[in-house]
Parts: sequence; structure tokens; C-alpha cells
Amino acid sequence: MSRALPPPPATTPAGPPVARRPGGLLQIGSTPRSATVLGPGAPGAGGPEVLDRLGRPAGGVGVEARLAADGTAWNAFDPAGPAPAQRFAARAAAVVAVVGGGRTARLLLQLLEDAGVGALVTEDPAALPPARARPAAPADLVVLITHHAAHAVRADGLLADGVPHLSVVLRDTDAVVGPLVVPGRSACLRCLDLHVTDADPGWPAVVDAFVHGPRGAEESATARAVAGLAGLQVLAHLDGAGAAAVGATLELLLPEGTVRQRWWSAHPQCGCVDLPLPAGRPVRDP
Ligand SMILES: [Zn+2]
Repeated sequence: MSRALPPPPATTPAGPPVARRPGGLLQIGSTPRSATVLGPGAPGAGGPEVLDRLGRPAGGVGVEARLAADGTAWNAFDPAGPAPAQRFAARAAAVVAVVGGGRTARLLLQLLEDAGVGALVTEDPAALPPARARPAAPADLVVLITHHAAHAVRADGLLADGVPHLSVVLRDTDAVVGPLVVPGRSACLRCLDLHVTDADPGWPAVVDAFVHGPRGAEESATARAVAGLAGLQVLAHLDGAGAAAVGATLELLLPEGTVRQRWWSAHPQCGCVDLPLPAGRPVRDP
């Protein structure tokens, strides 16, 4: 016996959801911390002009529609940030390098390309079409993907040159996204090693074994979740939105998928935040 299914919900263009509340109120947005409730007296509270002000995309296909959807979402994430056109212009002018190949790197590169980042640099020639890579370009941000432990020595040159860099470490039962090091402004990878060594004097030997040891597996769901979490940090930084991983690590527990944020101060024996900033390279405030 067949049973009639209810009609599918009406499709809506990407944008903040809108709900009518009792008393003639209108709620815009679904997240309690960022939703807005408009009263019946607010301009446009009852009509489609509210929807227009929200910047819903007019439709379209392909790249333009995708970027319009991204612009609407980032407007909600970061309402004090740049307008969508400025946001995408900044991304289009940016160069991001991803160091450390593998599945997570390939997914992150694809994500950054989809999000409108202008030039991507990779060690993996198969990760991007040749036209997308710009091997000799100085990077605005470098993502360092390692297995089991971060390799602070590999970031020394970036620190000295004032290049912001995001550490991503794939470990046995979690993945650590961060810190996003803004040289001279926030704790660096060596600061973290010094903090851990304070609590565990054997840590340097463990790091040495890990960074010279075999790579770990990059499981399907983990690689996507890590690429997504890292991608949000990269885009927030490029947009000037203040990435959550500046001065912090975001620990993605596996297989639960829960994320714990841990804050790290600069270590007094490192001295990285006392270094003069290289001339000619503007560093965004975290
Ligand atoms: Zn440091």
C-alpha cells in the first residue's frame, strides 16, 4: 500500500533563515548568539525588504553562486567585517601555502580554492591544476601539516620573516589545529614546546622521534573535519576576522568530533614576542 508523502519544503536561496515569532516579531538567524529579533515597529519587519537587506543572493550558478553563498554566511559569522566584495577581493589577492602533502592537505587546498583564495602553493603537484599554483610567490599565510607533533624548527624561517603560519598536527586520537602564529604578536610553536617541556622534561626527545618517524593514517572523515577547521582559521585570518587559533590550539577529539580550545601564552624563555617585526610586511592584529 502506498502512502502519499508530504510535499517537500520550499527551496530558499542561501541566507539567514527567517522565522515569524508570536507578537509580530521576526527572528533572523538560527544561532542564539547571533540571531536578531525585530519588533513589529522595526523598519521592514514585516516585509520582503528585510530579506533584501540581509543580502540574500539573487541566484546564479557556478562560482558566483558559491561565492554569494559564502559571502552571506561570512556576513553572519563576522557582521563587523568587510563587505562581501571587499572580503573576496582580499582573498583573491592572497597567497596561501600548504606544506605537508597528503589527503588533508589536498582537501584544504580544494576548500581554499572554492573559497576564492587567489593563489595556492603546494608541494604536491597533483593537488592542484598547474595554473592554480604559483610556486615562487611569497605567502601571506603558510599552513604546516605534520603528523604526531609540530616541528618548530621548520617554522623558524617563517617566524624570522614575519610570515603568519598555522600548525596542523594529525595525532593518534585527535587532531590539533593551531596555533596560528602571528609573529611577534602571539605564542609560536617553540613557545608551546617550552610550555610542554616545563611539565614533561622528556618531551623534546619525544618530539624528535615523532617528527622523524613515519606518517600516520589520514582517515576519511578526520581529513575532511580537519581541513574544514583549518580552512575556517585561514579564511578568518585573511578576512581580518580574528581567527580562534591565534594564541590557541583547537583540539578535535576523535572519533567524537568535539573541539576543545586551549590557550597558550608566549613562553618567557622563547622571546619571540619581543622580536622586532620585519619591515615592510604588515601584520594584521589577531
Ligand atoms: Zn615563541
